[in-house]
Amino acid sequence: MQKYKSFGIRNFRNIPQVQARLSEEEKKEIEVIGAVLPFRTNNFIVDELIDWDNIPNDPMFQLTFPQKGMLIPEHFKQVSALLWNYGSEKDVRYTVNNIREQLNPHPSGQMDYNVPFLDGQEVKGLQHKYEDTVLFFPSQAQTCHAYCTYCFRWPQFIGNEELKFQTGEIDLLIRYLKRHPEVTDVLITGGDPMIMNVERLKQYIIPLLDSSVLPNLQTIRIGTKSLSYWPYKYTTDIESDDLMRLFETVVNANKNLAIMAHINHPVELRPGAVQEAIRRILRTGAQIRTQAPVMNHINNSSKIWKDLWNEQVRLGCVPYYMFIARDTGAQNYFAVPLIDALRIFSKSYQDISGLARTARGPCMSTTPGKIQILGAADEGGESLLMLKFLRARRKEWTDKIFFAKYDDQSIWLDDLTPASGFEHFFYEKDYSETLLNNR
Ligand SMILES: *Cc1c(COP(=O)(O)O)cnc(C)c1O
Ligand code: SF4
Repeated sequence: MQKYKSFGIRNFRNIPQVQARLSEEEKKEIEVIGAVLPFRTNNFIVDELIDWDNIPNDPMFQLTFPQKGMLIPEHFKQVSALLWNYGSEKDVRYTVNNIREQLNPHPSGQMDYNVPFLDGQEVKGLQHKYEDTVLFFPSQAQTCHAYCTYCFRWPQFIGNEELKFQTGEIDLLIRYLKRHPEVTDVLITGGDPMIMNVERLKQYIIPLLDSSVLPNLQTIRIGTKSLSYWPYKYTTDIESDDLMRLFETVVNANKNLAIMAHINHPVELRPGAVQEAIRRILRTGAQIRTQAPVMNHINNSSKIWKDLWNEQVRLGCVPYYMFIARDTGAQNYFAVPLIDALRIFSKSYQDISGLARTARGPCMSTTPGKIQILGAADEGGESLLMLKFLRARRKEWTDKIFFAKYDDQSIWLDDLTPASGFEHFFYEKDYSETLLNNR
């Protein structure tokens, strides 16, 4: 059995590969970035995924080890000046918090507009944005086996309580779902729910299976990165067999169990343990759908996405979404311009099996909804970007196409402007009302 070993800002210098391969300068850079943004990696990633001959460009190294470019030079200078000149703890904390505030810790109105009410009370551990699907954040799942350097939920990991969504209460979820028969899908998320032990998972999942209580619930989704951050969860960990029995229980209760696996790069699918984990999960009757953002320094090439999607299909997984880097944290370092993301998507789409074309994207998860970049076109002498709502805060917007002025620098919806002759995007009419009505 593999024993899980976690490494972070306090003990990463003990990692043998770090000692052998990184200079003192590079280690200090990691400490500066790691003072502001969360850092966690583990022995599986260090030993099986990272190619230490390819440092610092290795995608798995970029994915879990803090990189100097993740802070703008001014912020980097401020923090390094304090750390390396032994600034007081209070000064460091002040500066770090100040910088964090400037990194847009709450993108897409998640805290302001998605947290629902029940009997006049905010239900803290839920998000309900799209009618059919409720997101559930168990309080014990607000961490991961490792942290992605680009994580958009990074504030949840830096111990700032008021930034966290939390609920320990499955009862509240059940009450909420009983009141909302339109909900067909519960998406258990975090952090990573698969950080929880089987006993906890059962506490959350079993009550959802009673169709006399929740007749409309058809799918339980679990969002996780554990397939490639700790595959032993499903193969050799003491509880792995019990976990497979739990998955079977869900399937036998006539529910669709969808493991929403976050996988960035084909390298993550290579280890035998990962492939074995996939086989074991699929054998329970659960399905695995895969999604990831397209990120500079990690997977910004069509070749990578072609290999990623084809390999997923070979292993029996269903490609689902290609996302765009969200407007938070180290977005400046990881963002790929929308038009480049579109090129990567289209180019890889040309080269994949029809069965891999279940993937949709590139897609921005924005405050008004999930917006796909459909294409670029010239219309009446104007160059345009075609956009489409895959998901919308107001159901009627779904599948609607709209246009923005073409430009090759934009990295997020906020950078785009409507086509000539329009002052606003169509959805911006009555927009503030929509945001509040959704609650
Ligand atoms: C993406 C997302 C969902 C799920 O959308 P699907 O298109 O069904 O995968 C649900 N809620 C929120 C807030 C989301 O961002
Ligand atoms: S697995 Fe998801 S929640 Fe966890 S660090 Fe990565 S992006 Fe963030």
